[in-house]
Amino acid sequence: MRIYIHWPFCVSRCSYCDFNSRVASRRTRHAYMRALLRELEAWACMLNGEDRWLDSIYLGGGTPSVLSGSELSSLLEEVGSRFYLHDSTEVTAEVNPATWDRGDYAAARAGGVNRISIGVQSLSDRQLSLLGRAHDAAAARMAMRHALGCGAASVSVDLLYGLPGMDAETLLECLNEVLAMGVHHLSMYALTLAGSTRLAHAVASGEITLPDEEEVAEQYLAASGMLRARGYEHYEISNFSLPGHHGRHNLAYWEREEYLGIGAGAHSLLGKYRFHNLESILAYARALAKGELAVAACEVLAEKEELAEEIMLGLRTSRGIELAGLVSKDSELYEMEKEGFMARDGGRVRLTERGMLVSNALIVRLMPA
Ligand code: SF4
Repeated sequence: MRIYIHWPFCVSRCSYCDFNSRVASRRTRHAYMRALLRELEAWACMLNGEDRWLDSIYLGGGTPSVLSGSELSSLLEEVGSRFYLHDSTEVTAEVNPATWDRGDYAAARAGGVNRISIGVQSLSDRQLSLLGRAHDAAAARMAMRHALGCGAASVSVDLLYGLPGMDAETLLECLNEVLAMGVHHLSMYALTLAGSTRLAHAVASGEITLPDEEEVAEQYLAASGMLRARGYEHYEISNFSLPGHHGRHNLAYWEREEYLGIGAGAHSLLGKYRFHNLESILAYARALAKGELAVAACEVLAEKEELAEEIMLGLRTSRGIELAGLVSKDSELYEMEKEGFMARDGGRVRLTERGMLVSNALIVRLMPA
């Protein structure tokens, strides 16, 4: 089993973000922590012994590093008192460079965190300020040094491309600097304009201009080329790792393994059941305080929906999916291969680098009727 724990609080709100996160008082955070522990306890009672062995724990958000390193370790201790961990259990914590000092990294490491994922996003102060990030480039560099120095087995960095004023050359400069530090894993995400964020308004009003689609595609291919040339495997559309440093927790999502999401808005997959918790932090905490699970909706997946998920998620990875799952789509596949978007390896099919660029449009064409 794998557990995702959602910590929905941040030090401040970034201009591009529409995630389920907010800035909150210490009191609200404490109440939320009590609810998390109640939910963990409830699931530990409901799952049988074997399902309580954890292959991975992922502390995401929001910003889990709003908790100090020792608070985060105490939370892991609570998980460990209800579930069982192997020596090889992957324990990831997302860290915002604005939060932890060296002591926090050491405390988190001592508490069992063995994989750290840092939201660097950019090493340009101008871009970080446009993004409304709570840190500058110097803090991001310091965070990478502390994470690499604390003894975590894997350090991952998130970077954004397609930023205002960015071109392939400036992106590669930033990437080059991050790689020179020796990080093991990179997640590269295109900046997307979501709903009513501050950045979306600034772009709509013409205050800020974003690079066009062609430029963004060029940045993605340039980054992916540099990473592969430096020995990073492109194992998922947005993810690259040195050998042996794949994010096992996220890979399990794409391979449709079971996982349990704990926290407001967290999603789970158990057997044929896909369900998610209430988004509202208050409603989530109230439900748990009343002794109820805070499930907002649950669907039982039919065979066709499972197949659709296998295609949608599996094609994100470099392993791709078994050809057998696409028997009725042979002519579409043939077209995509001819266009250079797909490749067949033995009994499997996967997206090429070019295909990964336009993955959504391709995957839609392969969905079961
Ligand atoms: S730190 Fe992450 S979750 Fe929090 S506001 Fe910024 S982008 Fe959103």
